[in-house]
Amino acid sequence: MSARDFLEKDYYAILGVSKNASADDIKKAYRKLARKYHPDANKGNTEAEDKFKEVSEAYDVLSDEKRRKEYDEARALFGSGGFRTGAGRPGGFDLGDLFGTFGEGPAGSRGGGGIGDLFGGLFGGRVRTRPRRGADVESEVSLSFTESIDGVTAPLRLSSEAACGSCRGTGARVGTTPRVCPSCEGSGQSARNLGSFAFSEPCRECHGRGLVVDDPCPTCHGSGRAMSTRTVRVRIPAGVADGQRIRLKGKGAPGEHGGPPGDLYVVCHVKPHPVFGRSAENLTVTVPVTFPEAALGAEIKVPTLGGAPVTVRVPPGTPNGRTFRVRGKGASRRDGTKGDLLVTVEVLVPQNVGGKAKEALEEFRSATAGDDPRSGLLQMAKGEETR
Ligand SMILES: [Zn+2]
Ligand SMILES: [Zn+2]
Repeated sequence: MSARDFLEKDYYAILGVSKNASADDIKKAYRKLARKYHPDANKGNTEAEDKFKEVSEAYDVLSDEKRRKEYDEARALFGSGGFRTGAGRPGGFDLGDLFGTFGEGPAGSRGGGGIGDLFGGLFGGRVRTRPRRGADVESEVSLSFTESIDGVTAPLRLSSEAACGSCRGTGARVGTTPRVCPSCEGSGQSARNLGSFAFSEPCRECHGRGLVVDDPCPTCHGSGRAMSTRTVRVRIPAGVADGQRIRLKGKGAPGEHGGPPGDLYVVCHVKPHPVFGRSAENLTVTVPVTFPEAALGAEIKVPTLGGAPVTVRVPPGTPNGRTFRVRGKGASRRDGTKGDLLVTVEVLVPQNVGGKAKEALEEFRSATAGDDPRSGLLQMAKGEETR
């Protein structure tokens, strides 16, 4: 049972009684459940064993007038959801968590002296100062198409959990300090015998912290943790694609006790471009050409992203949809080289033809009357029938 459990477990629900149940009701409910889940009646049934422990634990608290009052107050104060813990934090509190910020990290890195020394002195070696890697942080960034191709340095606002700024992580109101728990003498653990079971469980007095906060910090409600917002400038490399998740090593939450920082993961959202598209490391563009340009060949000007237009030679007899490759005008690759620009031609069919153009087209039709583009198709269909 951790401090978190204490606040998250609904002892009333476990015993199936209401919040204002009398001591007698609680006793009755407990007896009934204890008989039902007793180990003697459920040999080898671990589920019943767990239930029995749970019921006993609930009864232990609720049958003691003083502890029941504390429990009710704690839940009223912190809410039934218990303490909030940050990502990557396994839950519950330990002294390392609480005083991490002031512990024996790299010399001079954090204020030095003060509270860290105070508690270091009180607990001797008991304060945990294991180096702890900072949490990984995930964020998102929205990029224009051009930024995604060229890369950009973008400011990112990040929220992460840190020691509460008001109480500097102690959880105690400014001007007060937590005191060593008299019940467990700061160990946070207490041993208890319950019938045939012996438990070592977090101390009930301090919920396993080893410290008692008499006057909780109003900012963090005694948790010692707070959300802090910081802005980091991150370099988004050239060539990221929409939806890509990039890892920025060491840009996550700071480590504790000299541990390394976590990583920052950034999901990139890329806005579409009105002209250019993207296909892996290549850029794509669709360019309209007229029928005479496609039929007779032409040199056409094609836009590039952020550069001067390039000339693409369309050979005579180019069909609709053919793609030409312009080397080195695409997106950046990992090795710094660039992909290509893929130019797809779209042959336009004139919509309103009149005058000389119409005459010329009529003339073209009669001049090419012998070439039926569907003759092969009709023959092939027939061949299939007679086979
Ligand atoms: Zn605080
Ligand atoms: Zn204690």
